[in-house]
Amino acid sequence: MSVVVPVYDEAEVLPLFTEQLRPVLDDIGETYEVLVVDDGSKDATPVLLERIRREWPAVRVVRLRANSGHQAALSAGLARARGDWVVSIDADLQDPPESIAAMLQAARSQGVDVVYGVRTDRSTDSVFKRGTASAFYRVMGRIGRTSGPSHAGDFRLMSRATVDAVNVLPEHHRVLRLVVPALGFPSAEVGYQRAARAAGRSKYPFTKMLRLSVDSITGFSTAPLRLATWFGLVGGVAALALLVYALGSFLTGHTTPGWTSTFVAVAAVGAVQLLCLGMLGEYVGRMYTQMQGRPSYFVAYDSLAATTPDQGRR
Ligand code: UDP
Ligand code: MG
Repeated sequence: MSVVVPVYDEAEVLPLFTEQLRPVLDDIGETYEVLVVDDGSKDATPVLLERIRREWPAVRVVRLRANSGHQAALSAGLARARGDWVVSIDADLQDPPESIAAMLQAARSQGVDVVYGVRTDRSTDSVFKRGTASAFYRVMGRIGRTSGPSHAGDFRLMSRATVDAVNVLPEHHRVLRLVVPALGFPSAEVGYQRAARAAGRSKYPFTKMLRLSVDSITGFSTAPLRLATWFGLVGGVAALALLVYALGSFLTGHTTPGWTSTFVAVAAVGAVQLLCLGMLGEYVGRMYTQMQGRPSYFVAYDSLAATTPDQGRR
């Protein structure tokens, strides 16, 4: 089994995390690797990871050259994990390590490929986080036609076959919590209480949350593009009505002062155009980065490759 852990500036919580994870994995009684992906941390994380690795040989460290984001770090981990089962888990102890045993058990007893960790209680998350998360899952369920469970983040167990299927996807900006259900492997769910972050601060500022939402929507739906068409249609009808009105007043000899209507029309049409251009831009930008074919992360170091040069190259 492989446990993939993306970390970004988590020096405060890492010792606590490994302390709790280790007995859980030892108790399962199977061989395992803990693949920690250091997403370009700027704090003491790299030093700490080297120390942890010396004390716990099952730990493997992969360091990315720059902070590439949670999803890219997860992708880097999945691409390198060697286990027959792969679990992805956050380092901040919001996902309880104890649930890993339950997930593995569920996968085996129910014969499924994917087990989602579903947050049954998020009372420890801020009102803002809960609100935006609920909106996210509702919107994606409606326009994204995705089949995954709501409030399942990236705490999930995947079979080798599932991970292989994810790894061959050429898609950039993968939002794994949407991509994995879309692959359609048989799945089960294990509920868990979302704990409060054990230490340190969230590495998901509003800008990163927004980025994840935009990637989710543009990755799974062309609804905004169609929305642009609808705006255009409505705007067109309104403009036609204004035209008829303007012509009518001209023909009946009423010289309209005209300023108000012109101003409103220009402003409204301008706003709609800008909005539609922005939406188009999101998709064009996505096509552009996809066509560049540049990897979404660069691996700077792999502790496995450093000791055994023939493995872990990929
Ligand atoms: N993370 C990462 N790269 C980033 C941001 C976050 O690897 O750019 C990791 C982080 O270290 C943690 C996990 O992703 O292990 C989830 O992040 P966090 O707990 O800060 O998010 P939140 O729970 O606040 O949504
Ligand atoms: Mg967290």
